[in-house]
Formats: sequence, C-alpha cells, structure tokens
Amino acid sequence: MNKGDDTFKKIIAHCKEYGFIFPSSEIYDGLSAVYDYGQNGTELKNNIKEYWWKSMVQYHENILGLDTAIFMHPTVWKASGHVDAFNDPLIDNKDSKKRYRADVLIEDHVARIEEKINKEVAKAAKRFGETFDEEMFKKTNPRVIANREKIEVINKRFVASLEAEQLDDIRALIEELEIACPVSGSKNWTDVRQFNLMFSTRMGSASDGATEVYLRPETAQGIFVNYLNVQKTGRKKLPFGIAQIGKAFRNEIVARQFIFRMREFEQMEMQFFVQPGQEKEWFEYWKQERMRWHLALGMPAEMFRIHEHEKLAHYANAAIDIEFEFPFGFRELEGVHSRTDFDLAAHQKFSGKKLQYFDPETNESYIPYVVETSIGLDRMFLAIVSNAYREEKLEDGSERVVMNIPPALAPVKVAVLPLMKKDGLPEKGREIFDALKYDFLCQYEDKDAIGRRYRRQDAIGTPYCITIDHQTLQDNTVTIRERDSMQQERIPVDKISSVVSSRIDIRPA
Ligand code: ATP
Repeated sequence: MNKGDDTFKKIIAHCKEYGFIFPSSEIYDGLSAVYDYGQNGTELKNNIKEYWWKSMVQYHENILGLDTAIFMHPTVWKASGHVDAFNDPLIDNKDSKKRYRADVLIEDHVARIEEKINKEVAKAAKRFGETFDEEMFKKTNPRVIANREKIEVINKRFVASLEAEQLDDIRALIEELEIACPVSGSKNWTDVRQFNLMFSTRMGSASDGATEVYLRPETAQGIFVNYLNVQKTGRKKLPFGIAQIGKAFRNEIVARQFIFRMREFEQMEMQFFVQPGQEKEWFEYWKQERMRWHLALGMPAEMFRIHEHEKLAHYANAAIDIEFEFPFGFRELEGVHSRTDFDLAAHQKFSGKKLQYFDPETNESYIPYVVETSIGLDRMFLAIVSNAYREEKLEDGSERVVMNIPPALAPVKVAVLPLMKKDGLPEKGREIFDALKYDFLCQYEDKDAIGRRYRRQDAIGTPYCITIDHQTLQDNTVTIRERDSMQQERIPVDKISSVVSSRIDIRPA
C-alpha cells in the first residue's frame, strides 16, 4: 500500500466518523457506489452548490438557471446518442472474476509510464540543481524519449481501435502490454464487450402499455430541449448560457474510489449557446474561467492540470478535462467541451420541431453551437475534503486532525463555547449563539474540556471558535480562535458577526 492509499482510507473513515458521508443503506451492508451525505456533508455540498450557482447565474447577466426533471421522453436519449453509443468497453479477469473498464486498464498502464518519466525528471532535477533545464532534459534524455514514444504508440493504437469499435484489438493491446489484474495478478482476460451505462425503468402500469424510460445519465439534455423556452421567456440574445445542478445516474462498470465514481451522483453543468464559428473562442474563455474559479478557492495550483482529449466524443470538436490530484493520482474533476450543434440538430431532427434561433442582428435563423462546462459535485466535494485533511503535531506534543476546508465552504462557520458550565457562562453563550445563528450556521457546545471541543470543531473544519470566559461577563468581549493558526484574539461581542463575515467572504470568481 502506498502513502496515497493510506491517506485515502483515513479520509474515508474521517468522513464517516464526522458526519460527512455514510455508505447508503449501511445497516443492510450498503449499496455499491451509492452514498448518503451526513449532517456536515450536506452543508458542505450545499455551500459548493451555492458557490458554483452564484458564480454562474448571479455574476453572469447572460446565464439563467433551470431545474429539469430526471425522467425525459425516451427519444431524447435516442437523439443524444446515449441509447446507441453511451457504452464503456468492459473486460473480466477469469481468475479473480473482477470486472474492469478496458480503457481504464490501458490508461492506468500509460499513467505508470508517465510516472517513470516524472521520476527520471525529478532525479535529474536533484542532481543538476539550479542549472536544470527540464524542457531540454525531456527532449534529450534517451530513457525519457523512449518512454514518451511508448505512450504515443499505445495511445494511437488505442484511440484507433476504440473509434473503429475493434474490441478484439483492445483485448490484444491489453495482452501485448502484459497488463495484469491488480487482484489476481493474472493476465487471463475475457473478450472486451460494450456495456450501456444507462439505467432504465418502466413508467405507467403494464395494462396501459408501460414505456421504458431512462434515469438521465447527464443533466445537459434537459437544458438542450428547453433552450428556446428559456431564450424566449428570458428574452436573451446569443451568446447566453443555461445552468443546472441535478442528479445523474450511470451504471458504472467499475464503481470504486468512494464518491469519485458513483452510480447516483450530481452534476453542475452550464451550456453556453454561441454563434457558429465563435465556439473555439468561447471554449478558450470557459477553460480559463473554470480554472480561475477553482483557484479562487485557494486550493494549490499544482494540484490542477489540464488534459487535452486524445479521442473526442462523437459530439465534440474540442474538449479538455480539468484534472485534480486526488489521493489516488490526477483524475478528471471537470470537463469543458465544445459540443458544436450536435445535440440541438439531433433534437430538431428527432422531434420534428424547429430549434433554430432567430438572430435579430443578422436577420438569420440558425442552430447555435454549444460550449459546456460540466463538473461533478461529488468529485468537487472529494477534491475539497482530500485537500483539506491534515494530521498535525502541535508544539505541546499533542496531535490534531484538522479539515482545512476553504472557510466560505465550511459546514459550520462558528462554534460558541463557554469555557465552563457554570457562573452564568452558558447563559451568556446561548445569548451570543441566538444572535449569531441568523448570520451563520453555528454550533453551541458546553460539554467536555475546551481543548476537546476545539479538536471536534477542527475535525469538521469550523473556521472560528468563540470562547466565553469570566472576562466576557465583565467587559462583553470574547476570544475568537482561528482554525488553521490556532491564534486567539479578544474582540467585543457586537463585532463577532462583522469580523467573521469579513473573513469568510469569498467572492466567487
Ligand atoms: P469519467 O471519464 O471519469 O467516467 P466522463 O468523462 O464520463 O467521466 P462526463 O460525462 O464528462 O464524465 O461528466 C462530467 C462530469 O461529471 C465529470 O467531469 C465528473 O466530475 C462527473 N461524473 C461523471 N461520472 C461520474 C460518476 N460516476 N460519479 C461521480 N461523478 C461523475
């Protein structure tokens, strides 16, 4: 087990112990890849949603919000290509009976070669010190060159086979690369098969001819089929966007890694409608904008990277992923895609309804192009908690676990803690709590020693603790303790709200 696995396990255990995330139906041993959010997780999730919603809808005059149903007319999914092409190539290991996504096995293999290159570079950087020229080294070192060539050859062949749906060749590639099952260690693989990821159910009773409907695998289609409703009733001209937060469902083959890959999850998507021909410009714009949004939270820039897609989805003419360094490595957190007019043109064709926009400036009608930003709310949650988790050794030799959650997103903003449970301190504490609760989500606690109460608040990421002591009764001041530095200062009771507000406010990017 490497350090990442160990940390990841601790984060999962911490999320359960402190009311962030519970396995679904836990008393029945859980349901694979489905999770429930606890009292603190729900607050954090709502705060992430609000941060995203404000930065999209409130701060952009030309983006409007929408909330569409999970069920949609079944033809939507025919038109969007999901019935025919929303497949993952799956492969089973005959010895462990474990199922894998063939593309993920190959991508992991490539990631291991990349890791070798990175190690080589890091070693050289150490050896050469300040004079090290990384670009030059990568261009000239024979081992790095050989490994990069290997990656290129694998990617080329893999993309070609996927595009041509040559599943035999994907299996052959897995065998040639000698990829072994991580569980059994064997290379005894079945054929590769395509597997559709949509969940279906039946709507209506059998007697009146129930129809098969799908649980939406993405929120985007609800936006596409409503774009003219919103454009007309919202009186918008191009370019304009529609934003939505909602549940999506995918019957993932390999549902692992906690809330990273779930079967029921939430997406925050924004489709931006533009004049054809302007999509590349807007694609660049949203790529930068979304990166800025992530960095505005104060997360370290080196934990993000942009991955350009080798293989474009059937609907896209440009696509990138914003990847984040999760405890198990860099993985997709958000996608920015230029979807052309693929979806709207398909819905126009399948529905027989005109979905053209009338441009009052050019007096022409046309189908707009779409640039979308699509982020998984649960993955964003995981990015935040995995970056936030810290085990610290304090000066006095004790240890604490602190969740360094960006203060604006923290579940509880202020804990009100009377130093002792006597001498009128609890009454004063209650009075302060009752005044503050209209401004922030607060907690009142008077049980246990103050140190233990601080630890409990650190563990859920509460940015401020207010302590009421005997001096409070005399001069109406309290101490305010900051979570990360653990510094305390004395401030008047009537300043608590403004001091906390000024420190937890972030203007979403
Ligand atoms: P992946 O390659 O990881 O399966 P994807 O490329 O299929 O993801 P998209 O269809 O682009 O993902 O979905 C947009 C976003 O939705 C992703 O960037 C991710 O954050 C989130 N997402 C997709 N599938 C899941 C899932 N099973 N569980 C949680 N979040 C998901």
